[in-house]
Amino acid sequence: MKILATQEHAIYMIGGGGMGVSHPTDAHIYVIDGGGEAALIDAGSGIQPEWMLANLQADGVPVQHIGKILLTHTHWDHGRGCAWWQQATGGAQIMVHPQGKATIEQALWQDSHIAQHGIASQGARVAHTLADSDEVTVGDLRLQVIHTPGHSKDSICFLVQFGKHRVLFAGDTVFAEGGHGTVSADTDLRAYRDSVRRLAALNIDVLLPSHKQFVLSRAHAHVALLERKLSGRWTDVVTARVPFFPTWWLEHDASLYDDARR
Ligand SMILES: [Zn+2]
Repeated sequence: MKILATQEHAIYMIGGGGMGVSHPTDAHIYVIDGGGEAALIDAGSGIQPEWMLANLQADGVPVQHIGKILLTHTHWDHGRGCAWWQQATGGAQIMVHPQGKATIEQALWQDSHIAQHGIASQGARVAHTLADSDEVTVGDLRLQVIHTPGHSKDSICFLVQFGKHRVLFAGDTVFAEGGHGTVSADTDLRAYRDSVRRLAALNIDVLLPSHKQFVLSRAHAHVALLERKLSGRWTDVVTARVPFFPTWWLEHDASLYDDARR
């Protein structure tokens, strides 16, 4: 489904298990069409990927148009579908943070649910690794890479100026309403906090995360909620609940009432 467009460019959501867009094991999968070339943002779980291909075709994007597969990180719900998509696109270039390269090339998902069910995975060749502040071109759009360790060491976000909007593909680093990706005893919470602080400073308009809902305006407020949570007592991080939107807007954002006075 098309979720943002300018005259020349578009962003589609073609996968998303939690929203019923594709197989339930898929993270959200976006396509950004930069004119002349498109890129997949993440590749999904690789289970029933034909479902996403049908969504892509319904949006009118030829699969051969996809020249790049950009991974926000390599957890299996994001990266296991790489091998299938690389073949389906006729050799799209896979790009990932250096710390995730081996996971994709050697299909290192041995601890994942799917492996525990005895299902094998296939590796795929990585064309380029992406470090902090690198730029990736997709057609005539430029995506800035932001390394955001925390949820995983190989987490990166992609920032793009899309028409009037500052758009962030946030992976599992930040979700709507101040949500965050899974954390464990191994999580570097200090790194996570610093990553979210960097994202909070970007003043984004649009948040396209890998789970839960996306946000098409004033998304910076959603990132700020997570920054506040991670800057407080860490014992609260996992259990803390934030007020639901629009309750939060109504209680905490006086500028909404300015709109009513215009
Ligand atoms: Zn993840």
